[in-house]
Amino acid sequence: MSLMIGRALPLIYLAAAASFILALKWLSAVPTARRGVVVGAGGMLLAVGATLLEPTIATYRWIAVAFAVGTAIGIPMAMMPMTAVPQRTALSHAFGALAAALVGTAEYYLRAPAIGRFAMGALALEVLLGSLTVTASLMAFGKLQELLPTRPVVWRGQNVLNLSIFGLAAAAGVVLVLHPEAAWLFPPFIGLALLFGVLLILPIGGADMPTVISLLNAYAGLSAAAMGFVLDNKLLIIAGSLDGSSGLILSIIMCKAMNRSFANVLFGGFGQIQAQAAGAETRVARSAAPEDAAEILRSASRVVVVPGYGMAVAQAQHKVRELYDILTKAGVTVTFAIHPVAGRMPGHMNVLLAEANIPYDKLVEMDDANAEFPQADVALVLGANDVTNPAARSDKGSPIYGMPILDVDKSRTVLVVKRSMSPGFAGIDNPLYYLDNTLMIFGDAKAVVGEIVKALAAEGTH
Ligand code: NDP
Repeated sequence: MSLMIGRALPLIYLAAAASFILALKWLSAVPTARRGVVVGAGGMLLAVGATLLEPTIATYRWIAVAFAVGTAIGIPMAMMPMTAVPQRTALSHAFGALAAALVGTAEYYLRAPAIGRFAMGALALEVLLGSLTVTASLMAFGKLQELLPTRPVVWRGQNVLNLSIFGLAAAAGVVLVLHPEAAWLFPPFIGLALLFGVLLILPIGGADMPTVISLLNAYAGLSAAAMGFVLDNKLLIIAGSLDGSSGLILSIIMCKAMNRSFANVLFGGFGQIQAQAAGAETRVARSAAPEDAAEILRSASRVVVVPGYGMAVAQAQHKVRELYDILTKAGVTVTFAIHPVAGRMPGHMNVLLAEANIPYDKLVEMDDANAEFPQADVALVLGANDVTNPAARSDKGSPIYGMPILDVDKSRTVLVVKRSMSPGFAGIDNPLYYLDNTLMIFGDAKAVVGEIVKALAAEGTH
């Protein structure tokens, strides 16, 4: 029996690895994304199930305890709202990295000093990346959940201090690889890595946290891949590499969409200058009622809807679908302009609009949308702010200068739906609100769109 299981295990692991690869492929397109999630979860179930069949397992008692604890933590985490996905992801990375760091530590104490040099190298990398990812992810979670101050905490000589601590941790790792018997060095090695994780996140502002989380995803993945080498588990090597590379690619996409470099995200102290930037504006914005907005929309022939974080918070997507239906029935052409970093995670708007069954071919990416705005009668901005801020184009002093934006201001009329004049995630004022062709419709996005729909429906029956 155990011989049969031993032969079957590599095949099950191979099937699990294939599912992860297919899942990533299918997740990258909306029509196949659901299938991607199911196949990915199925692959993980296979991997965990197969691991439980490993003949080396002596007792299931502790595994059962871990299963119960994991389930008790995992279920409430899965219930977190979609707007909290970045912090939820940060927590998952913290747990994944903790597992890698603990396994590495256990293996060290089990196998050193007889451990081979290659295995010790992989182990040191696993523990270094795992440990720093634990504290960095917890810090990122704290900032995003606003349990910690979200502004960057910076001081003179910070980068030198941080890099020195990382250098010391890496040096301790190298010494351990050369002298695995130096067990006294192992706890300070972990301590330095944990400390570096905290220091790494301190100077980074809340607005950059999603990008950093994606980078931490890459670190956690690399740590898991290193763990695969330590345990000689090929599935871990494959899954960790996939995790690591996809995290890195996602961070690159996010940085590109914000026109920032990695170095600027990690060391730029983005978000510090919020105070002066906000409040500099003394002009007055014009506001209007939802009924006025309905009137303007009814007489339009091309409308571009620009969804943002506020639409997600208000969960307004179903009302937006009603608005889409009523306008298209009246002969208005309606499209949706999607900025790559609108909301709080890449694809956030796509997911919400797909949930409300908005036809996918009505979603237009940034460059095509920018070609549409000059011909549009109305740009309807629903809870988007930073991604429409014209200061990114013209104000060299703005922290978001250079970030590609949706040129909504080039439309004939801009209707902005939000609750107040408060800034968006980057914490800066938006000159769009003071333009002559802009009208602010203050209120919760779901309520306002509901009222617009009601007014349009009432007009339609007259
Ligand atoms: P913003 O965060 O710039 O603005 C959202 C706006 O929504 C706020 O100004 C807020 O104004 C409004 N709002 C909040 N709640 C409601 C509600 N219930 N009804 C109506 N409006 C509401 O969002 P954007 O989508 O424009 O920009 C995303 C930001 O996140 C960018 O700065 C981007 O760089 C950053 N980011 C995004 C990432 C991603 O992957 N998507 C990753 C990293 C960063 P008010 O309070 O007045 O209602």
